[in-house]
Amino acid sequence: MNFLPPSYIPCEACRGKRFNPQTLAVQYNGKSIGDLLELTIEEAAEFFSSQPRIHKALELLVQTGLGYLQLGQPSPTLSGGEAQRLKLVSELKTGVARGITDRLRKNITPKSTLYLLEEPTIGLHMADVELLIEVLHRLVDEGNTVIVIEHNLDVIAEADYVLDIGPEAGEAGGEVVVAGPPEEIAQHQDSRTAPVSPENASGRKGSAWGRSGVGLTA
Ligand SMILES: [Zn+2]
Repeated sequence: MNFLPPSYIPCEACRGKRFNPQTLAVQYNGKSIGDLLELTIEEAAEFFSSQPRIHKALELLVQTGLGYLQLGQPSPTLSGGEAQRLKLVSELKTGVARGITDRLRKNITPKSTLYLLEEPTIGLHMADVELLIEVLHRLVDEGNTVIVIEHNLDVIAEADYVLDIGPEAGEAGGEVVVAGPPEEIAQHQDSRTAPVSPENASGRKGSAWGRSGVGLTA
């Protein structure tokens, strides 16, 4: 049985603007809400640069490598990685707010949250992987624990502790091959991760192995 792929056509009544003419007549700096939803997050951050509350949230999204998304992009069209990064940003936003409140009432120990992420780097450009790593470090610096199931070596290299699960994929896997800090994984004979790890790759020796964060490889 064959299914046709989903297809989208703009609504005839509003031509994709999603609002009625009365609503669209209201403008902010020359743009209606319909125009705003067509901006990318990066453009919107610029547009709202004089509105700290809006700007701050958009800027965090840009820092997470999501600046290219359209503000009005429907959520079912987001990739898994994009959806995870969106959630991370909302966590960071509450984290920042919580940090300030905690500083105000010094006696209260901040709550620690466990974040479990599955391959958040999927579909990410190299430069954006770095941004994501920054975000993960920020979560850890705020006292949270981050567990990442990941194949991306740059992310694995940033972990405090790595569980290398294998030795192969699927039925030939499922065993813990080696566990320890990234430096130890890189030395291990049977690990599939070791030979290609940044520690062993030429020209990359001494990269940022073993900074804060917890990683898992699978
Ligand atoms: Zn419509």
